[in-house]
Amino acid sequence: ARKPLIAGNWKMHGVLVDACQLAAGLKAHCRGLDDRDVLVAPPFTVISEVSHILRDTAIILAGQNVCWEGKGAFTGEISPVMLRDAGASAALIGHSERRQLFGESDSLVNRRLKGALQFGLTAILCIGETLEEREANRTLDVLERQLRAGLADVGGAQMSSVVVAYEPVWAIGTGKTATSAQAQEAHAFIRHVLADLFEKDIADQVRIVYGGSVKPTNIDELMAQPDIDGALVGGAALDVESFGRIIHFA
Ligand code: 13P
Repeated sequence: ARKPLIAGNWKMHGVLVDACQLAAGLKAHCRGLDDRDVLVAPPFTVISEVSHILRDTAIILAGQNVCWEGKGAFTGEISPVMLRDAGASAALIGHSERRQLFGESDSLVNRRLKGALQFGLTAILCIGETLEEREANRTLDVLERQLRAGLADVGGAQMSSVVVAYEPVWAIGTGKTATSAQAQEAHAFIRHVLADLFEKDIADQVRIVYGGSVKPTNIDELMAQPDIDGALVGGAALDVESFGRIIHFA
C-alpha cells in the first residue's frame, strides 16, 4: 500500500515571520498522524528556520527547486547539499511555473531530478498539461513525454525516492479543480507509463499526487480515487486551517 502524501507548496510567499507562524500552526495539526506523510516546500530563505520549528515532528521539508550540482559556479541556484544542510530532504522539480515562467525544459528537469537523487533527496517530479493541450486532446501525449524525459536514465531502484505530481496547468491557482474522474484518468495513465518504463511492481509503489486548486472541500473525493495518493497544495497550504483540514482528509 502506498502511504498518502499531503504536500504544501508555499511558492513565493512568506517572509520569516509568516513562515514561522505557519510552521508553528502546522505542527499542532500534525500531531499523532502516522498513517500519512506531510511535506512543506517553503521558500529557500526560510527553510532553515522552518526546519528548527519542525525539528521534533515528522513533517518533511522540501525545496521548490534544486540544482543538479553539489557546488560550483551556478549563480542563483541552490544545490542539493545546501538543501540538506538547511534541513530539507526533498525537492520539487519541474513545477509548471518553472517550466512556463522560467523556460525550464524537459532535459533541464531531468538533470535536476538526477542531481536530487544522486545527493539523496526525494524528487517530486511535477508534470501536467496546459488548457490548450487538453483542448487539443494532447493531455496523455504531454504527460508521457514529460514523464519519459523527466525520468530518462533513472533506474528502477531509484524510483523509491521519486514522487510524481500531476498538476494540470489550467487547474493551478484558478479555482478550477480537475474532476476526480479527470485526475484519476491521468494518474492511472501515469502509472501505466511508469509500468512500461520500469516494472509493474515499481509503478505500483510510486506515489502519484494531484495538484491544482486542492481545497478542504474537494480533498476527500480526490483521495477516494484508487490512483491518487496525495495532494500538492498551493494556495490552501498558506492557511493553517485549510491545510490542516486537507491533511486530515477522510
Ligand atoms: P493551487 O493549489 O494554488 O492551485 O496550486 C497548485 C500548485 O501549483 C502546487 O504546486
